[in-house]
Amino acid sequence: MSETRSTCPYCGVGCGVVIEHEAGRITGVRGDPDHPANFGRLCTKGSTLHLTATPVLLQTARLHRPMARAGRGQPLAPIGWDAALDQVADRFAQTLQAHGPDAVGFYLSGQLLTEDYHVFNKLAKGLLGTNNVDTNSRLCMSSAVAGYKASLGADAPPACYEDLALARTVFITGSNMAWAHPVLFRRLEDARAANPDMKLVVVDPRRTETAAVADLHLPIQPGSDVTLHHAMLHVMLAEGLHDAAWIAARTTGFDALRDRVRDITPTHAARVCGVPEADVVQAARWFAGLDAAGVSTRRQPTLSLYCQGLNQSSSGTDKNTTLINLHLACGQIGQPGAGPLSLTGQPNAMGGREVGGMATLLSAHRDLGNAAHRAEVARLWGVTDVPAKPGKAAVQMFEAAAEGEIRALWIACTNPAQSLPDQTLVRRALERCEFVVLQEAYRHTATTPYADLLLPASSWGEKEGSVTNSERRISRVRPAIAAPGEARHDWRIARDVAQRLEARLPSRRTPEHAGRSLFDFPTPESVWLEHREMTRGRDLDITGLDWAALDRAPVQWPCPEGQSTGKARLYADGQFVTPDGRARFSAPAPRATAESQDADFPFALTSGRLRDQWHGMSRTGTLGRLLAHTPEPALQVAPRDLDRLGLASGHLVRVSSRRGSLVVPVQASDEPGDAQAHLAMHWGSEVLGGAGSGGVNTLTQPACCPASGQPELKHSAVRIEPA
Ligand code: SF4
Repeated sequence: MSETRSTCPYCGVGCGVVIEHEAGRITGVRGDPDHPANFGRLCTKGSTLHLTATPVLLQTARLHRPMARAGRGQPLAPIGWDAALDQVADRFAQTLQAHGPDAVGFYLSGQLLTEDYHVFNKLAKGLLGTNNVDTNSRLCMSSAVAGYKASLGADAPPACYEDLALARTVFITGSNMAWAHPVLFRRLEDARAANPDMKLVVVDPRRTETAAVADLHLPIQPGSDVTLHHAMLHVMLAEGLHDAAWIAARTTGFDALRDRVRDITPTHAARVCGVPEADVVQAARWFAGLDAAGVSTRRQPTLSLYCQGLNQSSSGTDKNTTLINLHLACGQIGQPGAGPLSLTGQPNAMGGREVGGMATLLSAHRDLGNAAHRAEVARLWGVTDVPAKPGKAAVQMFEAAAEGEIRALWIACTNPAQSLPDQTLVRRALERCEFVVLQEAYRHTATTPYADLLLPASSWGEKEGSVTNSERRISRVRPAIAAPGEARHDWRIARDVAQRLEARLPSRRTPEHAGRSLFDFPTPESVWLEHREMTRGRDLDITGLDWAALDRAPVQWPCPEGQSTGKARLYADGQFVTPDGRARFSAPAPRATAESQDADFPFALTSGRLRDQWHGMSRTGTLGRLLAHTPEPALQVAPRDLDRLGLASGHLVRVSSRRGSLVVPVQASDEPGDAQAHLAMHWGSEVLGGAGSGGVNTLTQPACCPASGQPELKHSAVRIEPA
């Protein structure tokens, strides 16, 4: 038997795994005891990874060969790789020449490796000259990105996992961490056991498993986070719990914020958020780390952990910046145990952000709107320019396709016909698009019926490259077995199409690069080396690393030339990545959710993850063991509301929003509050029937945060009726 060290392909905790394999088969998996993200632990999903890669599943569930349709509505038929790659290059070149570069789009995934991302990003922005390259990370972390940039100057989580054991107060908001980031939650449980004085505050409209063990749970009304944050700051200022000297020395914008929160009292927050006034005050005191009225003079550290409850909102960026405000007001950042730490939903959303693999970002945390940054990227890539016009973010990209503006779409490693909001619109977009390429590891997804061309991709246990987890730690991903059939690596497919496009399109190469391919990448390491060079001098500089160093151990960025170890936490010196080195307070006015409940749609619908499932269940849904935890979808509603509707657990209901409806069993649950309903995100049209059904996203809305472009997947107004 052989062993190969790699990482888990599910959540952003980024656990290390040891893959056991023999004669080309994966036979087992266990946690890597030497990986600093998990020290040998795995959750139910990670510990069953080997069962998702059995010979039978590799044979039956995976896509083995390129497949093409003769026309829309025609069956898929096998096609050779060369013909498939030529077809992509021909159709993209024709579309671009007829309609311009912004008539094509790339929709990628936070599950791609950093090397995959780099090649796709360079292909779109460098070779084709369009910024229409976005990813499902837009649905996941883009509000956190915008929040970090607005407040601290760069998309860089300042804290690290070690801080869980060093914090005196842990403030979890918008995250059911016990289910969505289980191994990290186990570390938190260990820290609480070792430190009985630690306080755990959980802010969540639902009484989740995470909330159930909190010292203080604030079950706020969906969308009322900004009011809560402002009211907590109001308490800190009223009780003198803030750090006036630190604010004066290290920040800007405090006066406007102080004016903003003057009237947002705990009494006001109690009314808006629907929680007791005393709990708002208590949360503020624990967060500040000082006893009220200055009884204690030594500030105790506070760590905040947050995820989609903040991000998936039409005011997602405001929710992020106003949470960071609380850290800045108390100097709770850059110190052991203190700081904001966003929990990344996907395994490599961070890596994608690092290479700038989104429509509004540039490589290595450069700004698309900055001409000097665009020129730097163009020079490093060897192209004449990078376009200044921002590309379409995820929701906009599909809206543009529905309008006929984007005509050719390349989708890789994601399933938009289930995961994007407002599925009726998404499906109309996919139907209208003239050419849809789907690069996928799995044979059947909700998006497959809309694809003109399917390209089989390698997957976990087969791929090689690198990923970055929530605490900025870069780990190597390694192959244990060959991909099934003719499946190829994502970076290689993108490279091979790019080289064909170089021969078909007028050159955008600079004179120094004339006559040679810009995509001369023989290995993942060669791609990573180009990415590494892009980071030189930037906040995420990794020029001190080489592939061999990453092979030895995972490293947290930054790690500039001359250093061999990374940095556990950022901003310890109080210097931020803004032009004046100061952090910036934001003072947004609280805004209501994009859609309000009314007599026709009286319930607030939220969605979220289950403990044992991952995204659209392509992998986890193949295991009965994982399905046993929650075998079927159910709409959770408070018992009082069910009584009022004359319904009981198990009854089928039709749940409808302004965009669509679906039929699902209802379940009495103490988790949602009154007039709230909750449905897991994992099931799609094959289980949940309904008009244009993409599961819960048949109901959700496309309203986005104006700063981040992230849609409000966490709130829609719905009606519940007997089916
Ligand atoms: Fe994988 Fe996340 Fe579970 Fe770790 S916590 S084993 S990364 S799913």
